[in-house]
Amino acid sequence: MKTYKIACIPGDGIGKEVVPAGEAVLRALAAKSGKFNFEFESFGWGGDWYRAHGEMMPKNGNDLIKDKDAILFGSAGDPHIPDHITLWGLRLKICQGFDQYANVRPTRILPGIDAPLKRCTPADLDWVIVRENSEGEYAGVGGRVHQGHAIEVATDVSMMTRVGVERVIRYAFELARSRPRKQLTVVTKSNAQRHAMVMWDEIAVEVSKDFPDVKWDKELVDAMTARMVNKPRTIDTVVATNLHADVLSDLAAALAGSLGIAPTANIDPSRRFPSMFEPIHGSAFDIMGKGLANPIGTFWSCVMMLEHLGEPEAAKKLMAVIESVTADTSLHTGDLGGKATMDQVTQAVIARL
Ligand code: ATP
Repeated sequence: MKTYKIACIPGDGIGKEVVPAGEAVLRALAAKSGKFNFEFESFGWGGDWYRAHGEMMPKNGNDLIKDKDAILFGSAGDPHIPDHITLWGLRLKICQGFDQYANVRPTRILPGIDAPLKRCTPADLDWVIVRENSEGEYAGVGGRVHQGHAIEVATDVSMMTRVGVERVIRYAFELARSRPRKQLTVVTKSNAQRHAMVMWDEIAVEVSKDFPDVKWDKELVDAMTARMVNKPRTIDTVVATNLHADVLSDLAAALAGSLGIAPTANIDPSRRFPSMFEPIHGSAFDIMGKGLANPIGTFWSCVMMLEHLGEPEAAKKLMAVIESVTADTSLHTGDLGGKATMDQVTQAVIARL
C-alpha cells in the first residue's frame, strides 16, 4: 500500500482548526479506500513560534519538509506581528524555497451556496485562476532610504524574467488544454506598464503557437474585474501576474459565495519539491477558537492534493461528498448564513465518505 508523507503546517488563527479537520477527512478517505495511507507530521510554525524563537519557522525548516509528498497549510497572520513578517517568514519562504511557481485557484459555485451573482447558475461559473507565484510584483526587490525623514524614498520593483513568465504561461495553456472548454484568458496591464507587461504579452503570443487547440484572449486587469461580474460564462482558465491574480482570486472567492470555501494549490510542476495546498482565507482571528470556521476551503484543497498525488478517484469521491454537504443548508457555517459548527461539517463529510 502506498503511504503519502504529508507535512501539516496549521500556522495561525483558524488554520489551527481547519488543518486538523482536513487531516481527519484525509484519514477517513484513506481508511475507506484501502489503497493508500497518509503519514502526517505537524509543524508548529507561525506566530507562536515567532514569539518563542524570533522567526516564523526554523532556518532549516524547508530541509525538514523537503522529502514530504505534499504540504497541507492553514494560514499565516497574527494581529501582534506585522503582516510582511508573517507572510515573508513562512508561506513565501516555502513557496519560493520550493519553486512553487504556479498558484492554482479554482472557483465554482458549489450546490446550495447563495452566491452574489444572481443571474449565474453553478454551471455558468467554473474558473481556474493561475497566479504567477515566484516573482513579479512580490519579488521582494526594493528598499527604503532616509527612513523617518522628509526625504524618505521607498521602492518595490516588479521583476519579471523571461523564464518565469514563460513557464507559468505554458503551465496555464496546458491546464486550459486539459479542461473541457480549452480556453485561456491572459490578464495584462500592458497599456500602462510598458516594459514587463509588454514582454508578458509577447511571451503569451509565442507560447500560444504550441497550443493551436486552445482558444485564448487577452484582457486588461481592470476590465477583467468587470467581466468576472458581468459575463462570468465567458471565462474558463485565467493566467495573471502575482499581484493581479492575488486580487482577482479574492474577487472570484467572493463571487462564489464565501472566502471560507475557496482552495488553492502552490505547485512545483517539475516535482523536485513538495507542492503546498491551503484554503485561500487567512487566519480570521475574529472567529478563532470558537469552532465556527468553515472547513470546506481546506477540504477542497485536500481534493487538489489528492489529484496532485495521483489519486484521481479519491479526489472525485471527496469532491462529490463536499458538494453533497454544501447542498444541505443545515450544514452551512456562519459565513454562509448558517448555524453549523466546523465539527458538524467535518463529521458530516466523514460520515458520507
Ligand atoms: P489574514 O490577515 O491572516 O489574511 P484576515 O482575518 O485579515 O486574516 P481572512 O482570514 O481571510 O482575513 O478573513 C476575512 C474574514 O472572512 C474573517 O474576518 C472571517 O470572518 C471570514 N472568514 C474567512 N475565512 C473563513 C472561514 N473559513 N470560515 C468562516 N469565516 C471565514
